Amino acid sequence: MSTEPTHPPSVDALARSLSKDVPLPHALLVDCARRAIQSHPTDAVNTAHQYAHELHRSLLVDVVNATGVLLHTNLGRAPLRTSETSRANNVEFNMSTGERGSRHDAVSQLISTLTGAEAAIVVNNNAAAVMLVLAALAHGRDVAVSRGESVEIGGNFRIPDVMEQSGAHLVDVGTTNRTRLSDYTKAIASSRNDIALLMKIHPSNFSIEGFTEDTSVRELATCGVPVVADIGSGLLDNTCPWLQGHLPQVPKWLANEPAATQALIDGAALVTFSGDKLLGGPQCGIIAGRKDLVEMCAAHPLMRALRPGSHTMQMLQSTLLSYCARTVCEDVPFWFMLTQTTASLRTRAESIVQRVGRGEVVALDALVGAGSAPGTTVESFGIAINGDHRETLRGRALPVIARAFNGTTFIDLRSVHPDDDAIIVEALQQLA
Ligand SMILES: *Cc1c(COP(=O)(O)O)cnc(C)c1O
Repeated sequence: MSTEPTHPPSVDALARSLSKDVPLPHALLVDCARRAIQSHPTDAVNTAHQYAHELHRSLLVDVVNATGVLLHTNLGRAPLRTSETSRANNVEFNMSTGERGSRHDAVSQLISTLTGAEAAIVVNNNAAAVMLVLAALAHGRDVAVSRGESVEIGGNFRIPDVMEQSGAHLVDVGTTNRTRLSDYTKAIASSRNDIALLMKIHPSNFSIEGFTEDTSVRELATCGVPVVADIGSGLLDNTCPWLQGHLPQVPKWLANEPAATQALIDGAALVTFSGDKLLGGPQCGIIAGRKDLVEMCAAHPLMRALRPGSHTMQMLQSTLLSYCARTVCEDVPFWFMLTQTTASLRTRAESIVQRVGRGEVVALDALVGAGSAPGTTVESFGIAINGDHRETLRGRALPVIARAFNGTTFIDLRSVHPDDDAIIVEALQQLA
């Protein structure tokens, strides 16, 4: 007999019985068993199963996004194809000299080629990009923002709060619905102010209509103060040359999105944007534009705290190379999904319904998501099934995330890769 201390047999036995149902490491199941015995001694078995299932369900897993929201914030925004390798990469190693290099050189060159920016750096997300720009260029000074653009982007990212955290002072100009160039020039001329930047923020997640007026980047650029355009969505160029041969024309909502190339042509000194919205890449934030200003951001102590990891840099580089190669619609999942023809989506839906033997092919409106292009819908097709089956579909080993409305479940195929149609078929066949 072993003389080593052992777990009380009941805990260990319970944990072993859990392992038949829940694929978690033994130590975690032991923890569930122990907590269950403590909290519900008379109903430990059921409670332990519940704890183990809850723990298992809280882990991150791949899911099939059948919501029709292409950039679903709860599902990680832009989906990415990832390669699994255990190798290192040369993130800060210069391959020519064999000495230390900069993690920004490669993507900075690519972003310059694609947008005309003199230089670029990458941080963890666009909130960090805005924060760093303000801290590096306007600490202790004033930044003019239109009252109509002093927005909350979501997740408590509010322009006035970010401004305060960065040490810059917000100077509100104009009104909620109308802000003119003269509002900015007055703020600059006022002896009370020390305006370091004019900041134009794209109110990505809402639109105001009616008696409105705002001041363009081109007009702001005439004021003699650097203009920072937070374009948010990360559209590189609103003429979308990568869509040629994939869509007959650039959709109107895209042509109207603020884009990095055009903002820089119009005279923005810097643009900031997310990597995982319309760019279609990994979560990150990009600061691009005038070299001297980008260098001031790169030299700020916050940069070290905000820098992304080597794998993010590699995934961003791979996304940018697809733009350079004009293979975006093949290689970048977001653009692949967006450019699928409705005819092909309908054919897929028909085939799924036929294979499953139930459900109905329906026309649907997919959404871009991630606060991009609010109100814009993208034509789609999918499958409608009687009853709300979201929970069952979520409970699968490879969960399918669907929408339900008025007691009907909808599978929108615009956000599902065709390779996953077989998974949808299997999931729908197994609905009782
Ligand atoms: C989305 C967005 C942000 C925040 O970007 P994250 O990458 O989510 O941090 C900031 N500004 C604008 C205009 C946005 O659209």
